[in-house]
Amino acid sequence: MKKLSLKWKLTLLYTLFATLLTFIILTVLLYLGSGSILASTQNQLKERVYEGFDLFDMKNGILRVDSDFSDVEGGVYLSAYDASGALLSGRIPYGFSSSIAVLEDTVQTAKLGGSTWYIFDASSSLRDYGTIRIRGICSVSALEEELRLLIRLALILLPLSILLSAVLCFSLVRRTLRPVYKITQTAREICEKKDLSRRISLKGGRDEITTLAETFDTMLAQLEDAFERQKQFTSDVSHELRTPLAVILSQCDDLLGDPHLSPEERASVKTIQDRTRTLTRLVSQLLFLSRTDQNRQVLTLEPLDLSLITKSVAEEQELFASGKNITLEAEIQENIFIQGDETLLIRLWMNLIENAVSYTQEGGCVQVGLSKEGKTVTGYVKDNGMGISKEDLPKIWQRFYRADTSRTDSSHSGLGLSMVQWIVQAHGGTIHAESTKGEGSLFLFTLPAE
Ligand code: ADP
Repeated sequence: MKKLSLKWKLTLLYTLFATLLTFIILTVLLYLGSGSILASTQNQLKERVYEGFDLFDMKNGILRVDSDFSDVEGGVYLSAYDASGALLSGRIPYGFSSSIAVLEDTVQTAKLGGSTWYIFDASSSLRDYGTIRIRGICSVSALEEELRLLIRLALILLPLSILLSAVLCFSLVRRTLRPVYKITQTAREICEKKDLSRRISLKGGRDEITTLAETFDTMLAQLEDAFERQKQFTSDVSHELRTPLAVILSQCDDLLGDPHLSPEERASVKTIQDRTRTLTRLVSQLLFLSRTDQNRQVLTLEPLDLSLITKSVAEEQELFASGKNITLEAEIQENIFIQGDETLLIRLWMNLIENAVSYTQEGGCVQVGLSKEGKTVTGYVKDNGMGISKEDLPKIWQRFYRADTSRTDSSHSGLGLSMVQWIVQAHGGTIHAESTKGEGSLFLFTLPAE
């Protein structure tokens, strides 16, 4: 039952309830109905017997009987007897035994030859003649047969009515739950497409589900508004910070150009310059990501020689790597062309190679590769550095996520891989990482070739 959907649960419960109710009502009706039919038959029998006395009279000392007495009216057979028990007139059903004891003013039930009979005896005194006893007999079997037919009909109609009510209930429940499916569908689409602008928009109706959907829509509108404002805030702040940071950097350059600066002052200015460069990088990453959030980051696609771009970034990064005594090996296939945004692709390679160098110990090795097979271009950056734990690996693409903060310097913000992922996906490609803690990492991406 737990695995059933609400639609089936409700249908099942309703059908069970309807079956039980119909069964009880039918049983009660049949019971009461059969009781009252039998009672009315008994009354009719008694009436016929009492009316039978009126069909006798005495004329000139002779007992006369109306011919109607022998009619089997309403299925009732009448027979009249004198005080000694001798038959005076009337009829008894064929094969009916006359040995049944007389029990006056009481309806007896007798079973004879597979049939059930009601027998009623009454006596009355006729003037100038004496006592006459009339016996009325009627068959109950015909009635019982009718009742049995009724029960059989009910047994056929009961499953039919259950089936009909189940079908009706199912379609009713499905209709009622349709808005709930719409709510679920919208919530799923919001999750999958990360699109808060979607609404359920249930029209009409003032029922609970419509109210729920409207409340849900209002909540979504508020959430969307809050997210928009947050994105705008990040974008505005990043924008506003760029100019003062540029001014600080240029002031640092000016100061460092001053020959009268003492070594201590020079060191302090250098520290300010370093920190400001880190801040400038962070601000530009934030600005980039807030643009992607607002769908304002445009791709300037043009035919590019990705081999050349990769080679130049690798050469540039070789300086940085050799500073840490790290060997940078490049295996780049020539003449790989793609439709891409040059600035973003440079950023992609830089981020991946910088990370590999940063998270590899002195004396380590970083490999950069680019190749093409069919319509797919594959690029990778591999290192034998500190690696990433299994738990951290799925989270490295999240913004501001840094796996091991104690081992990274403050210039790392945790935004680089979010940007890398966006760049690859915006070019229609895919990226994934493989890593073993303490052994190294591999970042591999694919892009469609031109
Ligand atoms: P960060 O600026 O901190 O490098 P990233 O988004 O580029 O930000 O990387 C997120 C986190 O992923 C890093 O903090 C680091 O813990 C982990 N990471 C990325 N590249 C590597 C790598 N080559 N080796 C080990 N860890 C890495």
